[in-house]
Amino acid sequence: MERIDKQKIVDSVPQKGFFGQPKGLFTLFFTEFWERFSYYGMRAILVFYMYYEVSEGGLGLDRNVALSIMSVYGALVYMSGVIGGWLADRVFGTSRAVFYGGVFIMLGHIVLSVPGSLTFLFISMGLIVIGTGLLKPNVSSIVGDLYHETDRRRDAGFSIFYMGINLGAFISPLIVGQVQADYGFHWGFALAAVGMFIGLVVFIVTKKGNLGLAGSYVPNPLTPSERRNAIKYSTIAVLVIGGLLAALIPRGLFTINTFIGLVGVFGIAIPTIYFIVMYRSPKTTEIERSRIIAYIPLFIASVMFWAIQEQGATILANYADQRTNLNFLGLELKAAWFQSLNPLFIILLAPMFAWVWVRLGDREPSIPVKFAFGILFAGLSFLVILLPAYFGGPNTLVNPLWLVLSYFIVVLGELSLSPVGLSATTKLAPAAFSAQTMSLWFLSNAAAQGINAQLVRFYSPENEMIYFGVIGGAAIVLSLILFALAPVIKRYMRGIH
Ligand code: GLU
Ligand code: ASP
Repeated sequence: MERIDKQKIVDSVPQKGFFGQPKGLFTLFFTEFWERFSYYGMRAILVFYMYYEVSEGGLGLDRNVALSIMSVYGALVYMSGVIGGWLADRVFGTSRAVFYGGVFIMLGHIVLSVPGSLTFLFISMGLIVIGTGLLKPNVSSIVGDLYHETDRRRDAGFSIFYMGINLGAFISPLIVGQVQADYGFHWGFALAAVGMFIGLVVFIVTKKGNLGLAGSYVPNPLTPSERRNAIKYSTIAVLVIGGLLAALIPRGLFTINTFIGLVGVFGIAIPTIYFIVMYRSPKTTEIERSRIIAYIPLFIASVMFWAIQEQGATILANYADQRTNLNFLGLELKAAWFQSLNPLFIILLAPMFAWVWVRLGDREPSIPVKFAFGILFAGLSFLVILLPAYFGGPNTLVNPLWLVLSYFIVVLGELSLSPVGLSATTKLAPAAFSAQTMSLWFLSNAAAQGINAQLVRFYSPENEMIYFGVIGGAAIVLSLILFALAPVIKRYMRGIH
């Protein structure tokens, strides 16, 4: 995209109208708010839907299989961002990708809201994976389109957007969890569909007036021959995969377990290939190569972080449901409500973190040190949740405050890692790959959940001290290594901070 065009795009966006930010931020904030509302609302009850008995309205799956499927699902949702980002960059433009994505997501929730079988669940997962891949990375990248390169409101704009994500994630488990308890799972999923519908309406109605040309262009359109190749190869891929599945599934050679294993392999293989391609590309300069090297340990740390953070929606959700005393101070807590704690703490603490970084001025920790803190706290959050079993054994119901504490501690880590993660990716990835940096960042979460799909199978209340201890301990060891390596990594970053 030429500089001059970029200028034209920014000029077309009304530059005021939402908390002193460009008016387009209103549209993107609420679109993403409602998308996250639907996603996290659905996830807050989905895990229970899978393993609850049929008599309780669930599908009656084995609990550990359900936990694995949750992780695989999360991995695919963020992996598909690679395709969603590519399609926006080369075929649709970001704005249309967001719209199509929203439609797929809404359909996915609608499918789940119809009482049905495991097949319905898989169809819904497919739709939401495609939809989120189209919507999530692209809605965030339009935020970047709203500002001139030198606009000082840019960081604040992204912080406001981040609040939108977490506000949606905070409110929905409370409401969806209550609706599920009162009316059943399918009404909960229906509410998620309504959320995405509202998001789509906001997007469509306010887009014209607020976004101007932002998101409306195809940054790097396919040439006719590339288009032919893309169609050819994707048709071949679909036929080959379809044929293989059709041959293997009836013979029992491709099971849920094979699929779970494959996602784990892809979760690690895709970012590895990314790194190799970026490193070897002739478009990558010497300095950029050094920055890729610096980025690798940060990426690994990020995988470690999300592996623990995302277990908040699987292992800890299960913990809330089965190990926690939900009668608290005369209140009847819902297990799904615990999913609101992470985003709640994010909303409460984010301003404080921003303030601390500013206060520290020159002494603000470097990116590698922040990442090291990220996984240090993640590790501690798992060590904390090991304690109730240490004091009370695996058979007593635990005070919910333990979970609150664990979610609180992980957020301390999240706030030192997540908000800088994307910008660190943007700065450290080679310029020739800038269109893919958003997807690259999400791949760390995808890899984490791909690995989780294997890990969570080992969890049981009887071995939970070992489970939390080993994973938490690994994170802490990794954080110490990262603290030690931070000065070296900084050197390899070649002036980026
Ligand atoms: N909770 C974040 C979100 O939904 C996680 C995404 C990430 O991996 O950065 O946006
Ligand atoms: N904190 C997560 C994110 O930033 C939300 C969640 O886990 O509920 O969006």
